[in-house]
Amino acid sequence: MQDGAPPAIVEKLSCAWRQGSPSPGLGHLTHNPQVAGNALFVPGEIALLLDPDGKRFLVRLAERDSLHHHRGAVHHADVIGQPEGCRVRSSQGRFFTALRPRLLDFVLDMPRRSGIVYPKDAAHLLAWADIAPGQRVLEAGVGSGALTLALLRAVGERGLVMGYELRADFIELTLANVHAFAGVQAGNLLLRERDIYTGIVDTDLDRVVLDLPEPWRVLPHLPGTLRSGGWVAAYTPSIIQASQFVDAVRLTRQYVQLETHEVLLRGWHIQGLAVRPEHDMFGHTGFLSVARLICEPA
Ligand code: SAH
Repeated sequence: MQDGAPPAIVEKLSCAWRQGSPSPGLGHLTHNPQVAGNALFVPGEIALLLDPDGKRFLVRLAERDSLHHHRGAVHHADVIGQPEGCRVRSSQGRFFTALRPRLLDFVLDMPRRSGIVYPKDAAHLLAWADIAPGQRVLEAGVGSGALTLALLRAVGERGLVMGYELRADFIELTLANVHAFAGVQAGNLLLRERDIYTGIVDTDLDRVVLDLPEPWRVLPHLPGTLRSGGWVAAYTPSIIQASQFVDAVRLTRQYVQLETHEVLLRGWHIQGLAVRPEHDMFGHTGFLSVARLICEPA
């Protein structure tokens, strides 16, 4: 069900967003083209520096910059031109290791002004909603772009992520985060400044991923926009929201394979005889509900 209104594309964005269609000239978030494969570190890219204790520091490499650390300064110039995995000496002679950050290292470090979907939940969502290369995925709301980054990578350069977001400042933050990670604007991303509760202007969607307060209000808009056989996923911090979403899904009698999950990730400390779970873990993040649209109500 579409409301027929023209998409309100936020101003101040690159021409790709203003035109409302992704530009083939832009990069894609499958990788940073600057740093693909085993290329040497170059100025401007983000490096992950591990200190002698294995603690992580993200830096954007610049010839004249340094990481100031209590174990000495690490000069970026010593990293630039080196391969990933190289060890560099700090001004105090201590060794640091330079690597490219995983997407999750970046996401946990990037600026955020909303709650985010944590990597453990994003990974689970990618599997259970079966997000794959080439798909057209609608996401709402976009927030700080943590989940957007995971979706962009999953759909690859032949796919498209369409993000609906109420707030222009969140759209700009997401664009900034995507750009910071990829080094380019992603050509497989289209952001719309819209209230998704009022309707969906895109069609032929393979997947719809919801992270907003009332995901059940999106359900009336899915037949006709989400293709039959496509998955809808709702990430909700509260089980009351999950329950309301699941009830609403069931009421339509138009979905199958309805499931709700919570992902508990527990790290283990393994050192000699000290083999035990880590003391700290994320006690709670959110619940994921997924369901699959069928042709007509059963
Ligand atoms: N998944 C995001 C976080 C989303 S926070 C991440 O991983 O970073 C929820 C977002 O939903 C907020 O940015 C909020 O502005 C947006 N939102 C709330 N209601 C909305 C609506 N009706 N339409 C579009 N976006 C909405």
